[in-house]
Amino acid sequence: MKINRNFDNLVPSYLFAEIAKRTNAYINANPDKKVIKMGIGDVTLPIPRVAVEALKSGADELGVKETFKGYPEYEGYDFAREAVAGYYKNFGVSVDADEVFISDGAKSDTGNIGDIFGADNTVLITDPVYPVYVDSNIMAGRKIIFANGNRENGFCAMPDESVHADIIYLCSPNNPTGAVYSAEQLKTWVDYAIKNDAIILFDSAYEAFITDDSPRSIFAIEGARNCAIEFCSLSKTAGFTGTRCGYTVIPKELERDGHNIHDLWYRRQATKFNGVSYPVQCAAAAVFSDEGLAQIKENLSYYQENARIIASVLDELGIWYTGGKNSPYIWLECPDGMGSWEFFDYLLNNAQVVGTPGEGFGSQGKGYLRLTSFNDRENTIEAVERIKKLLKK
Ligand code: PLP
Repeated sequence: MKINRNFDNLVPSYLFAEIAKRTNAYINANPDKKVIKMGIGDVTLPIPRVAVEALKSGADELGVKETFKGYPEYEGYDFAREAVAGYYKNFGVSVDADEVFISDGAKSDTGNIGDIFGADNTVLITDPVYPVYVDSNIMAGRKIIFANGNRENGFCAMPDESVHADIIYLCSPNNPTGAVYSAEQLKTWVDYAIKNDAIILFDSAYEAFITDDSPRSIFAIEGARNCAIEFCSLSKTAGFTGTRCGYTVIPKELERDGHNIHDLWYRRQATKFNGVSYPVQCAAAAVFSDEGLAQIKENLSYYQENARIIASVLDELGIWYTGGKNSPYIWLECPDGMGSWEFFDYLLNNAQVVGTPGEGFGSQGKGYLRLTSFNDRENTIEAVERIKKLLKK
């Protein structure tokens, strides 16, 4: 018996354990000090009322013989797929309901999509990055190359035309940097993908945070239907991190290596996935109703205002950052040349504020720290006031 030895190549992830260890040690040594956690990656506001009502009425239907439902469709109920397609229309992107696969979230889908691709593909991933893309490809034994984000390109890594890739992961608005690709930049990626016969795996989990005319979908870009798959989620859009619902969009015409990609993904899901529960799909569809969209807007605005508050203090201090606008994340350059962990400790010890060291997201994160807008307003204001006091020259 042999295990999958590719797991030996995973880099142990100490990031959040190490943050918790250092934070708890500080709290134990300084019980009178109030520590504010600004590294929170989970939402904190509740799911919208319409979604709660839809969950309840969906559950009620399951309790009555006439409306009881057994296994859901692998690809999602038509009403949920149509609701997603309708949502895309709101920002001018046309996708067919048949192209939408409802799932239990973008983490599963971005992690599982590799099932349909061969192990000998070269995978291009931007750095810093959401770790799932890297780890799932290490598990599959694929060769990974990186496109570096940095201060010069505003953490919007662009393709190196001299390098070939078969699979490309892009995330915009980005976790962890909050950076957002422009339509022009995404067009460059689409052209590169088509030239390389590659597929872009586009993670738009944070699209709902976009407030300007930046693209909210890769399918807003000409040519993308021939080279892209999109993953999105209600986790950050509507507070579904615990409720679990996402969706993946695969254009019907997308083909590679003599195979239709939509059909392959259907086959994969039909084999390994038994669908999302009926009440959760009811709740997801409710989020995309007019009432639902109005309700999620309130929560998104709350986080956006927190992000604006953080960003304005960094502006005042003259600290370079990306994000803060179009994203719940603020990615800042550690002042005075400090390293990520050095600055983490400095903020914890001197301002009792906890961030996330950038190097936990890849080598290009060294010297950066991520703050998030998911704490409450009072704490966010208090945290940035303390940072201002500490760092003001
Ligand atoms: N994609 C990105 C870029 C994320 O940051 C996250 C969560 O933090 C996810 C996907 C996970 O989404 P879900 O909760 O739908 O699995």
